Amino acid sequence: MKSIRTKLKLNNKQKTLLAQHAGYSRWVYNWGLSLWNAAYKDGYKPNARKLRVVFTNHTKPLYPWMKNLSSKVYQYAFINLGEAFKRFFQGLGKYPRFKKKGKHDSFTIDNCGKPIELNGWNHKLPFIGMVKTYEPIEATTQKITISRQAGSWYLSCSYEFHAITTPKTTDVIGVDLGVKTLATLSDGKVFESVKSYRRFEAKLSRLQYLNRHKKVGSANGRAAQLKIARLHRRVANIRKDALHKLTTYLAKNHSVVVIEDLNVSGMLANHKLAKSIADQGFYEFRRQLEYKCQWYGSELVVDRFFPSSKTCSNCDHIQDMPLNLRTYDCQSCGLSIDRDLNASINLRKRVRNSEVSSECKTHSRDAVGLTVDACGRSAADSSGGSRK
Ligand SMILES: [Zn+2]
Repeated sequence: MKSIRTKLKLNNKQKTLLAQHAGYSRWVYNWGLSLWNAAYKDGYKPNARKLRVVFTNHTKPLYPWMKNLSSKVYQYAFINLGEAFKRFFQGLGKYPRFKKKGKHDSFTIDNCGKPIELNGWNHKLPFIGMVKTYEPIEATTQKITISRQAGSWYLSCSYEFHAITTPKTTDVIGVDLGVKTLATLSDGKVFESVKSYRRFEAKLSRLQYLNRHKKVGSANGRAAQLKIARLHRRVANIRKDALHKLTTYLAKNHSVVVIEDLNVSGMLANHKLAKSIADQGFYEFRRQLEYKCQWYGSELVVDRFFPSSKTCSNCDHIQDMPLNLRTYDCQSCGLSIDRDLNASINLRKRVRNSEVSSECKTHSRDAVGLTVDACGRSAADSSGGSRK
């Protein structure tokens, strides 16, 4: 399954319709939650299905405005409420809370069992009607969720996706995630870091300063909040975009991608560096690579316990490399090479060496302390995160 989330291009009438549906969903969810609480207090054992029956038979007829909106919305609101309680009972979530207007506004609808076909730029959604997207999409799905974030509406859904093996230009590539750069590849290609937050930091603090006297909840205050939220979203989007471009490039064009497991390299111990790595989203990087390698038929190798930055990529000499040294100057063979490039070449060489030493790829790699994540098979420790 692949999931997408894309922005909707709407006119004011549609925006109002979506806001009404999101309001309907919130109303029903909160109604269900308060009845659940009350029923529980009185000694009953409520569940989402029972509450829904009460709502359909007794409550819904009292509110004529509900007739003008899709009834799918309230059905999914009860499903969501039931799921929230299920998570709570399993110890996976907090006790469900009442939803607030303007916070995580969303609703889910389906097409009465028929699949919803999304094709191109214009889409016919059940009940909502025709909507446009800013990018062409292609998906066949059972249900869609529409949500509002910082004043814009988004459509999200998941659909079945068949992995395709893309033609590969390079056999093995080593990737070193850096502090100065986002990533350095063993073939010399460099992905510059975006540092999106730092770029907008000044603008953000200026906005916050200028709006410091606006009253919370007033029209002006809300407008200012929206402006700030939009800027935050922009920062996040720039960061996401850079990371997605990198991981897609790696997974699509290389048969084997070798990365270092930062968790063990001890880099996170350095606080300043840790912040920088978090800024560049190492865990998100690994998570994306894991599922994209499956999509595009490549193999992800996570290298552990290997001093890739301390080793000379030419003669295997090992020397100390303080973090401030940007160039690797080999004391043995005299090689002078960029620190990150040296590390990425070492990572690439690790796989080449182990492939030569044994016929069975997997076993030889396990023997030298690597985790193999081939397509269709999950790694022994895929602590990097769950798959999309
Ligand atoms: Zn050397």
